[in-house]
Amino acid sequence: MAKLYFNYSVMNAGKSAHLLLVRHNYIENGDKVLLFTSVKDDRSGVGKVASRIGISAEAVAVSPEDDIFDIAQEMNAETPVTAVLVDEVQFMTPEQVYQMSEIVDSLGLPCLAWGLKNNFQGQLFSPAVETILALADEINLIKTVCHCGKRATMILKYNPDGSIVRNGEVVETGGESRYVSVCRAHWKEGNIGPRARKAVFDAGYGTRVVCQSCETVFPSIYGDPEQAGDCAAKLEGDKISGYFGSTIADACEFHFVRGVPEDAKQGVICDACIRGHLQEGRLLRVSSWFDNDPPRDRVPVSTDVDILEEVAKSVEERA
Ligand SMILES: [Zn+2]
Ligand SMILES: [Zn+2]
Repeated sequence: MAKLYFNYSVMNAGKSAHLLLVRHNYIENGDKVLLFTSVKDDRSGVGKVASRIGISAEAVAVSPEDDIFDIAQEMNAETPVTAVLVDEVQFMTPEQVYQMSEIVDSLGLPCLAWGLKNNFQGQLFSPAVETILALADEINLIKTVCHCGKRATMILKYNPDGSIVRNGEVVETGGESRYVSVCRAHWKEGNIGPRARKAVFDAGYGTRVVCQSCETVFPSIYGDPEQAGDCAAKLEGDKISGYFGSTIADACEFHFVRGVPEDAKQGVICDACIRGHLQEGRLLRVSSWFDNDPPRDRVPVSTDVDILEEVAKSVEERA
C-alpha cells in the first residue's frame, strides 16, 4: 500500500545522500521516479538535488504556486511512475504537502519526502513541516551524531566569531557552513563543539589558550581560556592538574619530583610540555579521578553474544 513518508533530519546528516540512494535503488530496478525540490534551494543550482559526497540528480523545482499533484499526475500519465520523491519539504507550502498526500491517496503512488523538522530556534521549521507531521503515514529520523557522540536532534546557528545566533531569519539557504547539528543539551548550552570551534579559530576568531611554558597558541574548545585540545592542564605550585582537552593530564594530577624546572611556567601548560617533563623523569602521577572507579564488568564472549551490541550498550550506560 502506498504511503506518505517523512524522512527528517538535522543539517549535514546526509539527507540528500539518503534521498539519492533511494532514487538510485528505484532506477536500478528499472522504475521511473519523480523528483521534486524547492526553488528556494539554490545551493547547487535550481532544480538539482546534490549531496556533499558528490552525487546529484536533476529535479523539478517547484514554486509556492505550483501544484505538485497536478505535475505528478501529468507526468505519470506520460510514463507510469513508481514513486514520487520530494526534497526540502520544509520549503513547500502546507497546500503542497496536502497535494503530496493526494499523490498517495488518489494516484496510489508512494510519496517520500525529506526535510528538516526543526529550525535553529528549536521550533518546527515551517507550516509545511507541521502539515507533514500531521499527514505522514511514516516518520523516520535520519540519524547523525553530536560532537559529544549523542544523537544530534537540534541545529545550532553561529556567527563567524563563534557566537550563537538564537533569533532572526529562519529560511536561509547557502549558509550551511555556519550551522552545526548537536544534541539537545549542547543546543541549550550553545556548544558548537571542538571541530567547529577550530574552524572559527582558523578564521581568526574565537578564544585562544596559550601555553605559558612554550607560548604555543591553541584554539579553545569551550570558549574557556584555559581549555583547548592538547592544552588543558595547569601548573600551580609544583602540581599539574588537567581536565578534558588534555590527552595526558585529563582528570589526573602530576607533581614535579625534584622541584619545578625553570622552563615550566605557572599557569596553563600544554601536552607537549607535560610530555617533555615526563620523558625527563621530572613528573610523577599522584592521583587520578578514575583510580577509584569500580572495575568494568567483563562480558563473556560466546557465540550468542553480539559484541557490537554489547559495546554499544556499555557506551550508552556510561554516557
Ligand atoms: Zn552533544
Ligand atoms: Zn607548551
